[in-house]
Amino acid sequence: MGAPLGGASVTVIQGRNYINGEWRDASETFESVNPSDIRETVGVFPASGKAEADEAIAAASAAFPSWKRLSRINRGEIIDNFAQLLKRDRDELIQLCAREVGKQWNESYADVIEAIHMTQFVAGYARQPNGFVVPSEIPAKDAYIIRKPKGVTVCIAPWNFPVAIPLWEVLPAVLEGNTCVLKPSPYSSACGYKLAQLLDEAGFPKGVVNVIHGGGPDCGEVLTHHPDTRLILFTGSFAVGQSIQQFVATDPIKFAACELGGKNQLLVLDDANMDIAIPAAVMSAYKTSGQRCVSVGRILVDRTREAEFTERFLDASQRLRIGNAMDRDVFTGPLVNEQGREKFERHNARAREEGFEVLLDGGRLTGGEHEHGYFVSPFVYRGEYRDDSWVLNEEAFSPHVAILPVDGLDEAIRIHNEVPYGLAAAVITEDYRKWRECREELEVGLLYVNLPSIGAEVHLPFGGMKRSGNGHPGAATLIDYVTHRTAFTVNHDHEIKMAQGLSAEL
Ligand code: NAD
Repeated sequence: MGAPLGGASVTVIQGRNYINGEWRDASETFESVNPSDIRETVGVFPASGKAEADEAIAAASAAFPSWKRLSRINRGEIIDNFAQLLKRDRDELIQLCAREVGKQWNESYADVIEAIHMTQFVAGYARQPNGFVVPSEIPAKDAYIIRKPKGVTVCIAPWNFPVAIPLWEVLPAVLEGNTCVLKPSPYSSACGYKLAQLLDEAGFPKGVVNVIHGGGPDCGEVLTHHPDTRLILFTGSFAVGQSIQQFVATDPIKFAACELGGKNQLLVLDDANMDIAIPAAVMSAYKTSGQRCVSVGRILVDRTREAEFTERFLDASQRLRIGNAMDRDVFTGPLVNEQGREKFERHNARAREEGFEVLLDGGRLTGGEHEHGYFVSPFVYRGEYRDDSWVLNEEAFSPHVAILPVDGLDEAIRIHNEVPYGLAAAVITEDYRKWRECREELEVGLLYVNLPSIGAEVHLPFGGMKRSGNGHPGAATLIDYVTHRTAFTVNHDHEIKMAQGLSAEL
């Protein structure tokens, strides 16, 4: 039994790898702890290395020929079984998510619901066309575009959407006939292990989906670099995504879809409705304690509204309830680990060093319910925009937010686009001309109007540009990327006739 959490004892999960339909251990293990109370070990998991990665890739390779030949509708039926199991175990998954990664209960709920929606979408998509009939210049020719699986797919997921994101990657891949190896983040191994149990129960044939646990360099890199890996679906930080893209560029048989970090911005324009701007800013900056890829780190406020916005935003920031993620009444939970807390403090220190005015000094929360967790309170600073600032350009992945006054929409757009990332933005305005201008000009993959910068739905593309992604958005839109499009042309005439007037005479 694990250490007590708030007086109650909880069972320590003994996680295992899922390879070729079997449960296996590795010689080494690692622990995952509850970031709301680090005295609690959530689970113990195999620290997989090259041996386990090789076995998992071998299992996926062996399963590929028969899985790709199965009817797409049959593959979708297994995914539908899995949807039923996610619904059955919904509450257990929510609890696990809140316990293991410190996502407040309501956010864990939304993560699991998003996973169910993704599964339902992909199962239903099985009956959609997997290609097209296209016209030919030659009447007796039939031409088709047929989509074919790419092969063994490595899915690497971050910890912050521990239920939804692994499924954004795995399900499109397997629907289209690929087989895969999923490596969850070591900080969300218990969630990954639970998904593996449900995938097993859903009835996927041996080796179609394999789930192995472990760290980045020891396990993730071995999987991505493996010579039999054809496709990599990666969601995580820019640094790791860049290294994967650089490696893939050296290997002509591999493809990689990389969904990466952000330095996202909220634009509060001169005509903004403050009753929308304030809750939008609070949700954008502080949901998941700023640990969403779409969390806002810069708020560009029209100078004429800065004083009013700042006063109300600081007031709301100071009133946030921060506490144990299992508590349904708190707004947000802890940071995920000590590295996250150190990164937050590093960014706060840099804001000071760069001469910004600190308005709210987010420190560690200690004592009482915060004593044993990675809790911090918001850090807010302001100042004139500078394009050479380090802190204004790097993802802090914590409740660390800058307020930058701007003079009008054109300046807001210019400053927005100077950031090296391009994931999400939100604009608060009552003027349709202004939001249309933002829609046309802002360099982002996700734009929200009179909303926070957060809030994905699985049937919409989810991805960014510049440092935020390489143009293959996640969730439903990955369905296209996991296949090759093959042109298939058939002649029904008794002679050969060529397009473009090309002669067929010998
Ligand atoms: P991370 O990059 O540290 O880790 C992500 C995954 O990659 C983990 O499973 C990790 O073990 C693995 N990994 C680490 N090094 C590796 C290597 N060398 N080779 C292969 N795999 C390796 O990110 P994280 O801390 O888990 O997640 C936070 C980051 O993810 C943030 O930057 C956030 O913005 C980003 N994110 C992006 C999206 C998106 O859709 N764009 C969604 C969620 C999170």
